[in-house]
Amino acid sequence: MDLPVSPSPRLDGRHALVTGAGRGIGVAIATALAELGAHVHLAARSAAEVEEVASAVRARGWQASALPLDVTDVAAVQAAVDALPVLSVLVNNAGTNRPKPLAEVTLDDFDAVFGLNVRALYVVTQAVVRRMLAAGAGGSVINISSQMGHVGGPNRTLYCGSKHAVEGITKALAVELGPHGIRVNSIAPTFIETAMTRPYFAVPGFLDQVLAKIPQGRLGRVEDIMGAVAYLASDASALVTGTSLLVDGGWTAQ
Ligand code: NAP
Repeated sequence: MDLPVSPSPRLDGRHALVTGAGRGIGVAIATALAELGAHVHLAARSAAEVEEVASAVRARGWQASALPLDVTDVAAVQAAVDALPVLSVLVNNAGTNRPKPLAEVTLDDFDAVFGLNVRALYVVTQAVVRRMLAAGAGGSVINISSQMGHVGGPNRTLYCGSKHAVEGITKALAVELGPHGIRVNSIAPTFIETAMTRPYFAVPGFLDQVLAKIPQGRLGRVEDIMGAVAYLASDASALVTGTSLLVDGGWTAQ
């Protein structure tokens, strides 16, 4: 008998843009996509960091280009995206957090968190999707959200608000773009050890509080995101759109 053929996880010949690819989770995402054969474009403000990551990827025999870019700069985003080949994969990973109690949050905090986590994600997506639509070849958009896009947490009104917005944008776009063959999903990690979270764990007691909420009993590692992004980027997830893949060790299961 003819057995079903497993969809290929390979991304050969496809171009992918990863924002926030100079350090942390973005480096793992870019590595996973490059290993599967994609040509990965690495965007962040620190040119030296994206260049270092791109050359490390190329040293493995894979394809990568550094793209120094501030994703909050609308004109720069438009120009950068227009200069790229048509993308098959966009990973909106650049994001930030300013954890504070509500009473201490400033409008500058609000604008910084929503400006990057929501507004810039929206602007990058719009620029990339316009070209995907014009090319008519479909694609996969992956938004790096958070478990905090599904639940609340103390000192996280801005972060939770912004990541819940990412979840809403993901679902609405999935509905809108489904007929065009463009899938839109999010990945929602628990706490991962990166430069962004390192200062939080320096606060006495915070690590224990976090671990108490993770049934698997450990923090996330950047490697934990690699399989999720490989799955959502490739044809292995061909009928998956509008969903959020929780990589949270069970935090939100209880
Ligand atoms: P990170 O270590 O702080 O790295 C952030 C990356 O984004 C850097 O490459 C940074 O480079 C880039 N970036 C920041 N502002 C930018 C801008 N305006 N334009 C372009 N690039 C910019 O962060 P991370 O911990 O890897 O987090 C990555 C994503 O995962 C974020 O969306 C975050 O919310 C999400 N997440 C993280 C965790 C966690 O525990 N770490 C958990 C759940 C979700 P430059 O500063 O050089 O621009």
